[in-house]
Amino acid sequence: MTRIRRLEVYEVKLKLEEPFTISSGTSTYSHNVVVKFVDEDGRTGWGEGSPSYRVSRETVGSNIEAIKSVAGKIIGLDILKLERLREILAKIEGNPSAKTALETAFLDLMGKELQKPIYRFMGGYRDSIVTDFTISIRSPEEMAKNALKAVEKGFKILKIKLGVSPEEDVERIKRIREAVGPDVKIRVDANQGWKFDDAVYVLNKIADYDVELCEQPLEAGDLKGHARLRKESPIPIMLDESVHGVVEAVKAIEMEAVDFINIKLMKTKGVSEAVTLAHLAESYGIPCMVGCMGESRIGISMGVHFAQAIKNVMLVDLDADLLQAEFLVEKGGASIAPGGIRRVPEVPGLGVEKVDETKLIRRFTVGGGVEL
Ligand code: MG
Repeated sequence: MTRIRRLEVYEVKLKLEEPFTISSGTSTYSHNVVVKFVDEDGRTGWGEGSPSYRVSRETVGSNIEAIKSVAGKIIGLDILKLERLREILAKIEGNPSAKTALETAFLDLMGKELQKPIYRFMGGYRDSIVTDFTISIRSPEEMAKNALKAVEKGFKILKIKLGVSPEEDVERIKRIREAVGPDVKIRVDANQGWKFDDAVYVLNKIADYDVELCEQPLEAGDLKGHARLRKESPIPIMLDESVHGVVEAVKAIEMEAVDFINIKLMKTKGVSEAVTLAHLAESYGIPCMVGCMGESRIGISMGVHFAQAIKNVMLVDLDADLLQAEFLVEKGGASIAPGGIRRVPEVPGLGVEKVDETKLIRRFTVGGGVEL
């Protein structure tokens, strides 16, 4: 039996290549929490949280406090007793990103103990996945230019951010489709930006340009609206902000408010709940996507393991690390190849081999002789 000996918690800020704009605002960097476990054999497990106040009412500060509140219980834990970790995580209120950071670091160690990549013992369904690439909100002309650039880089699926003004949103999709041609898959995300009538208008107009699905057209709490909209929209509806975990998913599915669910490890209460959510949705015949917040390649690699592992994770939006201008992972982690193909390395655990620790700001350490 091998136990966790030390837990280190860090904060990190990573500049984005360009400001990233969605209907609710603009960000210029990713602000994340990084967790490092060290076990009795000196092996390390890495995990990351990328909290969103807008989506889950959590911040880097609240994540760090949440981790601190359970850190003492994690020290001494057997690295194969995942359910014991989940029992500890259940004591944390809110702060889903903190839970996922801790569970990722745990799974990294578990994989090293089992000598298997995480995805192989999580389900092992596929050997690689294809991610989309996100186009942030700009003028229709600029977005068409950026979309074409992404296609020239090799991406075959684009996720277009919308939700600003209905007329312009239609123009955005028209220009983008004209620029990229018929062979590129286009999905859109309004991030709750439309009123009901706007959504009906835009979705019926952009259906002419072959749009795969629309994510979160209306406010998160408006499940009735989404159920009504599904009947008037020629484009299937995916819920993101409305569905954090299994409880909201059941409600949305029972209300017939959803065609697809966007699972994010930063919204579910850890990685295990994401697996449960994907399986639950599968039993209702609802396919899922895995999405991301502002993770570096540490958190994104966990997402790729999840997507490779689970059959019902049919769509992938794991590109946050590709939008960053600074790199935390120096070696290893999920690779990216032309076509948007991503895969994790066939090594034990998460597969992140070297982290640039000079970018990390230490917040606290517990265990290994260090007390809180
Ligand atoms: Mg979304």
